[in-house]
Amino acid sequence: MERDTIILFYPLVDKKRQVSNLPFPILYLERMIRDSGLITILLDERISPDYEIIIEKNKDRILLAGVSAMIGYQMISGSKFSESIKKHTQAPVVWGGWYANVLPELLLKLEFIDFVVVGQGEIAFKELCLALYQKLPLENIKGLGYKDSNGIIINEKATLIDEKTFPNVDYSLIDINAIIESNGIPAPEERSINYIATIGCPYDCHFCCLAAIWGKKFFAKKVDVILNDLELFIKTGNIKKIAFDDDNFFGNKSFVQNLCNGIIDRGIQLKWEANAHVSTFLKNYTEEDIRLIYKAGCRAIRLGAESGDQEILVKVNKRINVSDNYEIVKLLGKNKIKPVFYIMVAFPWDPDKDFKLTLDMVGKAKTINSNLEAGINFFVPLPKTKLYDEGIEYGFQPFKDHFELIDFIGKEYVAPWWKHDYRKELYIFLRVYFKYANPRHYKSQFGLLKIFSFIATIFLYPISYLRLRYGFRKAPFEAYIYFGLRRFLNAITGWNSKDDEESMARTRSWKR
Ligand code: SF4
Repeated sequence: MERDTIILFYPLVDKKRQVSNLPFPILYLERMIRDSGLITILLDERISPDYEIIIEKNKDRILLAGVSAMIGYQMISGSKFSESIKKHTQAPVVWGGWYANVLPELLLKLEFIDFVVVGQGEIAFKELCLALYQKLPLENIKGLGYKDSNGIIINEKATLIDEKTFPNVDYSLIDINAIIESNGIPAPEERSINYIATIGCPYDCHFCCLAAIWGKKFFAKKVDVILNDLELFIKTGNIKKIAFDDDNFFGNKSFVQNLCNGIIDRGIQLKWEANAHVSTFLKNYTEEDIRLIYKAGCRAIRLGAESGDQEILVKVNKRINVSDNYEIVKLLGKNKIKPVFYIMVAFPWDPDKDFKLTLDMVGKAKTINSNLEAGINFFVPLPKTKLYDEGIEYGFQPFKDHFELIDFIGKEYVAPWWKHDYRKELYIFLRVYFKYANPRHYKSQFGLLKIFSFIATIFLYPISYLRLRYGFRKAPFEAYIYFGLRRFLNAITGWNSKDDEESMARTRSWKR
């Protein structure tokens, strides 16, 4: 039987709770081989958990199996799929995505992985499929990693190409409604999905691997293509919200203006959020532009505020000032757009100092705009970034293999340079003071919890406001009383502590 089938797998992102993300990596690859005469099977583990049956059914036809994985649970679910391919078929397995980009050698050491693709995956993937189909050599495929008798070989990476030259994505290949409902049916106004409108970023922050992988380039999709896609999602999935997952959505002002005008002209009714670089946004967007962005449906902007320690901002090459963070929360508040800070704390140089100054900054910004939200992560040196070697100098242990990395991801992180465990202070900060510094926060709760939160707000709002305003976090007695009351009420009412877990989850994740 001819081997003419490519199977592309999008692994589970989390063991328990799924995100309603479109499986862009496999959709992007499918379009590249659509007209090649090969058959493509797309497998999204959320929709096809019983993928082994499909592998078994096609075992004699599979030419290549592809997996796209980020660093996180996808490493585990992608490994299980790859082992299953090896168990049932003779087909080789290729991995792409962020994991393959930052640690390709780790993947190629595994028996169940034959190839990796680094850099932009589309062209290398297409060339690999055709090379296997036509039995051509692999040496000239840019960005391809493989192993032979000489060991691991990773070919030179290709430069990032504007995807406007690639065929359009075919969303009819996936079940959009099943993805939106992968955690149960959401309320009609909460039907949401993610989207990627651009690729790349012109900055080179030293904790981020984007510049090393894509070379500081930035391209946006055609505005008409995006608008057509949004209309399709509304028609097929009845979506009301879009999360633009671009690294630097606001990086090109004329693109943003054209997109916003297009959304308004076509009458597209969606609430959306996207990422911005703080100083670029402040420099390039006037209040008139922000009003246009709001009119087009933008309700939140995620910002890499990163740190309240100016020395850190310079060292990581963030190209913003601490004062920019105050300015932007004020500006967005005035224009009814919610700011969301992404923050990193406990860098190797002086973790006590940056931790303190950063919590001071986030707290003060919250008193300027009580709608501010923040995700606070501990700094972890990521391979392929400029801070990786420095992290190793400060005692960070490089991962020897895939399994050590999986072990690391599953554990509570403590860096060798930490002077004490920062988690407890961060937990109290996020769970009590940051939360109750918004006097309207109880409105997002339901039932008895709403009543409890309302009463707690009466007592905790003034204390939280003053503590955040003046950066005073010592002797948090009222926080202990609050936790005691919560535990007592949890015990007698059977409430779960989901929001506690969410606060802690924010302190654990990696940048990629
Ligand atoms: S952290 Fe953000 S702004 Fe900095 S290089 Fe990465 S994507 Fe660009």
